[in-house]
Amino acid sequence: MLRIGNHLPASKDYLAMAKHAQRLGANTFAFFTRNPRGGTAKPIDEADLQKFHAYAAEYGIDRLVAHAPYTMNLCSAKPEIRQFGRTMLRDDLQRMEYTPNQYYNFHPGSHTGQGTETGIAQIADALNEILTPEQHTIVLLETMAGKGSEIGRSFEELEAILERITCAEKIGVCFDTCHAWDAGYDIAGDLDGVLTQFDRIIGLNRLYAVHLNDSMNPCGTHKDRHQKLGQGEIGLEVLTRVVNHPALRNLPFILETPNEDEGYAAEIAMMRAAVSQG
Ligand code: FE
Ligand code: FE
Ligand code: ZN
Repeated sequence: MLRIGNHLPASKDYLAMAKHAQRLGANTFAFFTRNPRGGTAKPIDEADLQKFHAYAAEYGIDRLVAHAPYTMNLCSAKPEIRQFGRTMLRDDLQRMEYTPNQYYNFHPGSHTGQGTETGIAQIADALNEILTPEQHTIVLLETMAGKGSEIGRSFEELEAILERITCAEKIGVCFDTCHAWDAGYDIAGDLDGVLTQFDRIIGLNRLYAVHLNDSMNPCGTHKDRHQKLGQGEIGLEVLTRVVNHPALRNLPFILETPNEDEGYAAEIAMMRAAVSQG
């Protein structure tokens, strides 16, 4: 069974998110752990979580892909921003323990002029300070478009972070189709080749989730402008091959396309129709 859902708008509770996902025909979803601009997270409501777990079990929602706020930058040139990022990451991972065995995705960061090597070292240091062997969450580095000073524009950069992480079994990758395409990975021309490269450099065993997006821009433009499935430069035929690919088909697919509910429900139905196993 295809696992597909979208990044839901902010909600006051987990049960409401699960119901929202279910209404859209989704069996997985993404959400911001707090305001995407950062700030304080809403307190955990244990009664809500109990209802959420029961509802999710009933409707087969078994995979959450939480998303860190965009302001979390573990490799900013400003020490106070790096520290703020560590505080949010630590707090978010504590909160994730209320939904154990799920994924927490984040943008590795922007080095803001310090250089890629320094950035990679700072990200790895932060993760090594915060990840523990006891945690029940897998933390995912997202493949990035390479806008500005973003780290994670290549599989090599992601691997350079991954190889430094002590708790290796608690870290992995989330593959964003729009970002990878914008970064220069030609998934339209050679999907197998891109995945072979991913496997050689990082390892497909470290790939846990896919952000399924079309792109407004051609391959290699480093823009990061998401488009609705089939209305961008990647195209529906390629995105259909992505969800059907044997190396990917069992992963959760999260839509981050510019849609309202109706559009998301239509994209979810369209992708379900496009896979042989439904
Ligand atoms: Fe993201
Ligand atoms: Fe993404
Ligand atoms: Zn993006």
